[in-house]
Amino acid sequence: MIGLSNSARLAYIPDMTEKLHIIGGGMAGSEAAWQAANLGVPVVLHEMRPDVGTFAHQTGNLAEMVCSNSFRSDDSESNAVGLLHWEMRAANGLIMTTADKHSLPAGGALAVDRDEFAAEVTARIAEHPLITVEYGEITSLPDDGHWIIATGPLTSGNLATAIQGETGTDALAFFDAIAPIVYFDSIDLDKAWFQSRYDKGDTEEQRKAYLNCPMTKEQYEAFIDALLAADKAEFKEGETAGYFDGCLPIEVMAERGRETLRFGPMKPVGLTNEHKPDEKSYAVVQLRRDNALGTLYNIVGFQTKMKYGAQTDVLRQIPGLEGAKFARLGGIHRNTFLNSPTLLDDQMRMKSKPNLRFAGQITGVEGYVESAAMGLLAGRMAAAEILGGKLDTPPNTTAMGALITHISGGADAKTFQPMNVNFGLFPEVDAKTGRRNRATRYKAYTDRAKADFTTWMENQG
Ligand SMILES: Cc1cc2nc3c(=O)[nH]c(=O)nc-3n(C[C@H](O)[C@H](O)[C@H](O)COP(=O)(O)OP(=O)(O)OC[C@H]3O[C@@H](n4cnc5c(N)ncnc54)[C@H](O)[C@@H]3O)c2cc1C
Repeated sequence: MIGLSNSARLAYIPDMTEKLHIIGGGMAGSEAAWQAANLGVPVVLHEMRPDVGTFAHQTGNLAEMVCSNSFRSDDSESNAVGLLHWEMRAANGLIMTTADKHSLPAGGALAVDRDEFAAEVTARIAEHPLITVEYGEITSLPDDGHWIIATGPLTSGNLATAIQGETGTDALAFFDAIAPIVYFDSIDLDKAWFQSRYDKGDTEEQRKAYLNCPMTKEQYEAFIDALLAADKAEFKEGETAGYFDGCLPIEVMAERGRETLRFGPMKPVGLTNEHKPDEKSYAVVQLRRDNALGTLYNIVGFQTKMKYGAQTDVLRQIPGLEGAKFARLGGIHRNTFLNSPTLLDDQMRMKSKPNLRFAGQITGVEGYVESAAMGLLAGRMAAAEILGGKLDTPPNTTAMGALITHISGGADAKTFQPMNVNFGLFPEVDAKTGRRNRATRYKAYTDRAKADFTTWMENQG
């Protein structure tokens, strides 16, 4: 909560030179500016567009939606992102109330007219008496003052370099690497077999959760040769790729050493080839079910930036996948994000430079709604600090609290990847409720969240 008593609050006159600077006027930055200004704190919002563009943005508007026009499910009773909508409306969120005003028919989803939406966010920010928008790229990290960095997945190269200078190269990723997905009925089950490593699992289904494709030494060596020789995608941004170790593309692993994959995603241990039980596999490629129907399987740990043609050629060298049909090929998606669990505290401040807060997709949340929600919190937290108080982190039983808890230490830093809000991030509802069916259980999550969020809001006075 903002730690000021009512009398102290009346007596406290903020130093009006103490402004909050926000870098990036996207989903998170616009929301953060709105929240802080509504608490009485003057804000300068720095946006590089239209002076400096990105490959995805088309306009100079704030809060531009770069791809889909959907804020996803609006069901606040049984869906985690719908619950996040509810919390953002309860906190007078600019992004959500503007989305409501420009919504389009989309079944249970909240879709918007993207042009009207972004134009209105831009106008409301411009009209706010406490917000000034300054256009131009920020290229370095400020040493003093109160700042929120909300520059998103397409953070400009100059600023990303400056952030990396502070965090170290391993703590800022530039790309998400996606693993390929194969149609089950195109896998040769005369070569592949179902088995979980060391037969782990309580049920037969769990013990057979993976499909395994075996390789001899000769096949493995030929595969590594093909991988090293394959055409790789170039990045038009011309930047050096930065990956967390948990999601290295297979060709990057192969470049680190011919045996690296055999000690990583292709390790053969704990598996017995049911077609040739006496033959020890030299390496094994594992596939895991990707949908409830069991029609799709993803190749585990096989993120790749091989070009599509080369990719199908190389992957079809895997025994059992000679006739593989791919539902999705692997790829690289530009996404700049911090290793937040190691870098940020629960106030979203950088531990090594607490005058800097981060918000939005750069913190490792994924999606328009999640990014705006983190902007909402960062804006309120920064304003509270400037006003001489502190805003408590919302409890992790709420959608906002679950997200911030996840990114600021709840997630495993080694395998940290951008995350959508989902009920897996919430503490479980009590065991009795948990035994009920899924709809009842989700309703219990959202009821608890709404009650706790309301209390959290009330405590802010
Ligand atoms: C190609 C692509 C497709 C996507 N599709 C979807 C989708 O369909 N649905 C979805 O929910 N999410 C999608 N996302 C993710 C989406 O970008 C985020 O969900 C959301 O926009 C992130 O909000 P943000 O405020 O963190 O970043 P943004 O909304 O990107 O805002 C960041 C802002 O910072 C500005 N900026 C960057 N660097 C600087 C600098 N140095 N100085 C000043 N300003 C700077 C940028 O111009 C931008 O306006 C997609 C992302 C990409 C890259």
